[in-house]
Amino acid sequence: MEIGQALPVEKVKQSRLPQVDFNNIPFGKIYSDHMLVAEFKNGQWDGGKIIPFGDLPLSPATSTIHYGQSIFEGLKAYKSETEDKVLLFRPDENFKRFNESATRLCMPHVPEEVFMDGLFQLVNLDREWVPNTPGCSLYIRPFMFAADAYLGLKPSDSYKFLIITSPVGDYYAEPVRVKIERHYTRAAKGGTGYAKCAGNYAASIYPAKLAQEKGYHQLLWTDGAKHEFIEEAGSMNVMFVIGDKLITAPAGDSILHGITRKTVLTLAKEWGMEVEERPVEVKEVLEAVKNGTLKEAFGTGTAATIAHIIAIGDDGTDYELPAIETREFSNKVLKELTGIQRGNKEDAHNWIFKI
Ligand code: PMP
Repeated sequence: MEIGQALPVEKVKQSRLPQVDFNNIPFGKIYSDHMLVAEFKNGQWDGGKIIPFGDLPLSPATSTIHYGQSIFEGLKAYKSETEDKVLLFRPDENFKRFNESATRLCMPHVPEEVFMDGLFQLVNLDREWVPNTPGCSLYIRPFMFAADAYLGLKPSDSYKFLIITSPVGDYYAEPVRVKIERHYTRAAKGGTGYAKCAGNYAASIYPAKLAQEKGYHQLLWTDGAKHEFIEEAGSMNVMFVIGDKLITAPAGDSILHGITRKTVLTLAKEWGMEVEERPVEVKEVLEAVKNGTLKEAFGTGTAATIAHIIAIGDDGTDYELPAIETREFSNKVLKELTGIQRGNKEDAHNWIFKI
């Protein structure tokens, strides 16, 4: 990958790398040496710069703290298992989705030279932070927030865009138990569900905590109108294999248009599987569990790639799903995707950006 425009760089005096135990990485607590920062003011972006990772000085009146005009992305860099390269999986899709989120949150678009070139340059600079332990990767978090120190409710005039990176281990090693959410709503029609904005996640924390107290890992989010259709699983898209068909909710405005989702659907179609993107009724899924036609259920997302769902709870009953070893499609697609992401399977679609 050619790195385009170079951003100015201020390097750390001393790397923190020697202090990191790569065999024991807690999620989201360790950050690499550098970060990218760009500022939007007077109607335009500065070119951005790469500086040592550190705290931000913020006014207590900073608009994003009060009104949540804040968006982010999440993607991973992997050490290739076959050559001395760092591999990014479909970062162009994250860039596109980031600016779609920006539009919904009434924020300025971030230019490609800042997001993409800056991302490649940052990852290249901190490439020793990409773990080469199996299952581990460098998690990359681009984000933007409203930076005006102003308490009036209006679109901010100034914004900050940053990218920070963090080495991570396996996110969900275990299959997940999910509970169908029949009361709380993650996203409504006309709302912000398709945008990766902070508020969506804030609103999900309390219902998720209630479910965790009952022994579930995640919620199966249902539609905001009647809670009769399954939309997402925690912060993942969700798919079911019923009979021989792969079924998932359509990418409307209440679900996040997941990059893993899109990738899995592409592979499934190429492998000759019948794919249905359509509203998925809770009733239909529970009936399929009871009559034995539900063969697989799984979440898709950058964090876990594929998270097998082992049980679905609804109204006090837990429905146990088929054993993980029997799940042909999700195991195959997990292997294929992990292989592509780590450079030991052919990347026929040019999904990988090498640094
Ligand atoms: N849904 C939600 C709500 C998410 O936060 C994510 C994670 N970005 C996903 C689905 C999966 O998206 P992706 O495959 O792009 O990571």
